[in-house]
Amino acid sequence: MPGFELFGTEEKKEVQDVLDNGVLMRYGFDSMRKGHYKAFELEKNLAEKMQTKYAQVVSSGTAALTVALASAGIGSGDEVIMPTFTFVASFEAILSVGAVPILCDIDDTLTLAPKAVEASITEKTKAIMPVHMCGSMADLKALKKICDDHNLILLEDACQAIGGTYEGKPLGSYGDLGCFSFDFVKTVTCGEGGGMITDSEIFANRAHKYQDHGHDHIGTDRGAEAHPFLGYNYRLSELNAAVGIAQLRKLDDTIALQKKYYTILRDALEPITEVSFRKVPENGVESYAFLNIFLPDENNARDVHKAFSENKIDACFYWYDNNWHYYKKWEHLLEQKSLTKFSNEIQEGLQKNKKPFPASDAWMSRTISCLIKLSWTEEEISKRAEKMVQIIKDTL
Ligand SMILES: *Cc1c(COP(=O)(O)O)cnc(C)c1O
Repeated sequence: MPGFELFGTEEKKEVQDVLDNGVLMRYGFDSMRKGHYKAFELEKNLAEKMQTKYAQVVSSGTAALTVALASAGIGSGDEVIMPTFTFVASFEAILSVGAVPILCDIDDTLTLAPKAVEASITEKTKAIMPVHMCGSMADLKALKKICDDHNLILLEDACQAIGGTYEGKPLGSYGDLGCFSFDFVKTVTCGEGGGMITDSEIFANRAHKYQDHGHDHIGTDRGAEAHPFLGYNYRLSELNAAVGIAQLRKLDDTIALQKKYYTILRDALEPITEVSFRKVPENGVESYAFLNIFLPDENNARDVHKAFSENKIDACFYWYDNNWHYYKKWEHLLEQKSLTKFSNEIQEGLQKNKKPFPASDAWMSRTISCLIKLSWTEEEISKRAEKMVQIIKDTL
């Protein structure tokens, strides 16, 4: 998955353009920039690639989620339904706009279970945020129907699945809003950065203002711009955007390489009856960033994961025990450890998350996710596959 494994002269050239003119800021300085508007260019390319009308790049994936939520008018006391398996950024973004993250069970897609989502809806619910973890997606058709029935926003966190598709559409473009991270380990990286896509002119118009202190971006004199509403600073720098441009151009090749290596691994593991694979919803195509497997039970998964580590099969994750990715370890969220006092609404709302999620536990305790690296050679991946098969057979 990490795009930095494919850095080359393309990234250097784009960055050099920025260093040559010295303008690191995406807005203004028009006479100095020799025509280089890297953040704008990245937005144009991202919208084109993701087949949406608009794209807004920002300083991180977390910022993209925050800007997306704010652009959809989600704020104080509103509830946003999100999965128990994700990255902490999902609930951070929700809390940062004053809304309440409501945890919800996952199923064998390893993201939101539509039935559990439906059961979590209250009169305060404003949005559903599926997270396409580890290269594959939620049952978006079912979630879209729920959103349509209840008048909710569908916000796709596609930070780990850029390049995947659903019903022929790029992941992130199916819902009302979609978000990507371009952080240091993501498929498309620019060091730190993120992007939000949408077909909504209203959301797009709010987003570009919100991520730049509320500036309306009208006219050529930044100092004279109006502020139709409050905003913050989630801008992406020109240097980061420059790297992103080169990286995004490679996306198709990156996905093809991931698919090739994923397929070699999967074909090797497929004959093992004890191994099953994460469910990919009908009409979904993974980005192949990870190969996600289920072992028959928790003990098997723990044993196999341990044996992988002992035998130097790196980059395989047992998320069930992971601080960043599974709700059980989010003590700071569950215990409401905040530097400042949460509003009463958030305090009350968060209480809803203090309950067991047995369906999530059942899937996550059996899951091992193997990162697909871009720097492997075909020989390395074949050896790796052979070794993994042997380890699983020896362990079970
Ligand atoms: C990486 C990631 C984010 C946050 O992105 P940053 O750019 O690191 O802020 C959000 N959600 C998921 C699922 C991620 O993997």
